[in-house]
Amino acid sequence: MPPSRSRPSDADAGADDGGPAPARWPLRFASSRPAASRLTVVAVGAALLVAGSATVALTVALHQPIRDGVLDFVVFGGLAAITAGVLTWELVGTRYCPRCGHENARKAAACAACAYDLATRPRFACSEGHRLAYEPGMCPCGRRLLALRAPEVGRHAVNSVALALMVFLGALLLAQLIATAR
Ligand SMILES: [Zn+2]
Ligand SMILES: [Zn+2]
Repeated sequence: MPPSRSRPSDADAGADDGGPAPARWPLRFASSRPAASRLTVVAVGAALLVAGSATVALTVALHQPIRDGVLDFVVFGGLAAITAGVLTWELVGTRYCPRCGHENARKAAACAACAYDLATRPRFACSEGHRLAYEPGMCPCGRRLLALRAPEVGRHAVNSVALALMVFLGALLLAQLIATAR
């Protein structure tokens, strides 16, 4: 790894000169977020554990056949795991600086490593989609980078929580209906 490259965004911009590379969101998730990945795995494991214990307790308490217990576990365990995983990933992800990848303290206003404004999260992009940056500047094509609307992180997290809860409650209702129909 050459030590002179301290700014990965510059290195990327240089590497993309071969053609008009689309400025998609960088897909650096699991590999560059070890803490978030670990926490998500822990949350999924905990959800499975809770769902497993709950279904075992219910199966024993209601004297249900083991087959029903296993079915309950697959349905509720799966849902609980998905919900916990999505929530944890969303909540932990907001702590990361999108610019330098530093993991910040919860509710930090600015990145401790690069001073990026974590509250408003400004972004700038070339109107032709060549480049996405976290500070104003020029695209290699000569156009000025335009400010993008700030992503609403808080609302995004609330939406995913609401969606996960709705899916979970819907499945709960469905399982109730199936159980009573039997
Ligand atoms: Zn940073
Ligand atoms: Zn451009």
